[in-house]
Amino acid sequence: MKVENKTVLITGASRGIGKSIAEEFAKNGANVAFTYLSSVEKGQALEVELAQYGTKIKGYRSDASDYASAEQLVTDVVADFGNLDILINNAGVTRDTLLMRMSEEQWDDVLRINLKSVFNLTKAATKPMMRAKAGSIINITSVVGLMGNAGQANYSASKAGILGFTKSVAKELGSRNIRSNAVAPGFIETEMTGELNEEQLKEWTKSIPLKRAGQAKDIANACLFLGSDASSYITGQVLVVDGGMLM
Ligand code: NAP
Repeated sequence: MKVENKTVLITGASRGIGKSIAEEFAKNGANVAFTYLSSVEKGQALEVELAQYGTKIKGYRSDASDYASAEQLVTDVVADFGNLDILINNAGVTRDTLLMRMSEEQWDDVLRINLKSVFNLTKAATKPMMRAKAGSIINITSVVGLMGNAGQANYSASKAGILGFTKSVAKELGSRNIRSNAVAPGFIETEMTGELNEEQLKEWTKSIPLKRAGQAKDIANACLFLGSDASSYITGQVLVVDGGMLM
């Protein structure tokens, strides 16, 4: 699971899963570049917090859903860190509502922030990865991209889109030694799921064989594996981390 001296770029790390991924990579000796958008204070605080691990750390305020910003971000990261070994596309949002009530804006926002961002960053990051003839891309999808969920037609579609994208990139870039995999979290306790009410929480937990919600660190550990050389013969896969919910 060695990621020592590797440079990782993580989108959306001001809180939740992205923050935990940044912490675990820094603890394990990686140089960490990460982004945030609206939570500027939290992003700046994370840069200070991660400094204790002694590797190079830098936070960037960058909108993953904007193509030009994504290209600029990768240029800046390569200039600051010298290389880019691992990209983790984590930034994501929900705009949940039933299809009958879903506005065009709610659809467009979720597809742009969750799916187009993955295209933006991956396209930009593959340039330095191709030059280095190595790279690992990890896309955070969701179990609902595999099974659907009432009230999340936009979100499920964006996460299912990530799966097709992940596998296509694996086929296109395998010959360049660039791997592309997805991690599909189940129910993980973060601010995103904090929006659910007591009743919804009970329903989710009932359907999980391990009978508990997952923690952000469970997803970070899966990313450590897929980012490290321990997974060097794994590409085009979806690693489901859901306490057995989807079996
Ligand atoms: P979260 O707590 O809501 O955090 C989302 C992060 O994304 C924040 O750091 C936010 O940064 C960032 N972000 C949002 N829009 C952005 C943009 N346009 N550009 C850059 N960053 C942006 O969510 P989470 O629960 O940690 O989820 C992280 C990922 O896991 C998401 O892709 C989510 O879909 C996926 N996931 C989560 C669960 C779960 O149970 N929690 C389950 C399955 C999948 P700012 O606050 O700075 O804007």
